[in-house]
Amino acid sequence: MSIKQIRYLGDPVLRTACEPVTTFDKELRTLVKDLTETMLDAPGAGLAAPQIGVSLRVFTYDVDDTVGHLVNPVIVTRSEEEQDGDEGCLSLPGLSFPLKRSANVVAAGFNMYGDPVTIEGSETMARCLQHETDHLDGVIFVDLLDPETKKAAMKAIREAEWNTPPVVKASPHAMYGVIR
Ligand SMILES: [Zn+2]
Repeated sequence: MSIKQIRYLGDPVLRTACEPVTTFDKELRTLVKDLTETMLDAPGAGLAAPQIGVSLRVFTYDVDDTVGHLVNPVIVTRSEEEQDGDEGCLSLPGLSFPLKRSANVVAAGFNMYGDPVTIEGSETMARCLQHETDHLDGVIFVDLLDPETKKAAMKAIREAEWNTPPVVKASPHAMYGVIR
């Protein structure tokens, strides 16, 4: 097991819907261990597989001194009651923004051995379960912000030191050709 490089917003893997896990093998257990170690090192409350470049439906969490993981998670119930709070993400280091989330959720999935698992979460755990499950669908929490907050978030992201602009491959002359 090892600490992996965490991918930042802008990496296409974060915008790709992940594949379900079909084989509960040694490779999956290594992935869970890598995710756990990378999350604890960061440190963060949760880490989803695409954040270390693996497009599989797996995440780990570390909330209220409980470290765990969930494979092929589905949010099966979410409360109408909401919670306020700031949310952040290891793929957007240093940034956090207020986001309403369901106050209580139940997530179902499997552990790394293929046994069914159900997790009931409230407060931080509920927020974490929603945030990490979103990651597996290519959704980043900033997508869900209210329009005003999102505007501020986009500005902060543009100015963030980790957000290096992509390399431009086409020359301006080539682009003129396309426009004409
Ligand atoms: Zn995240």
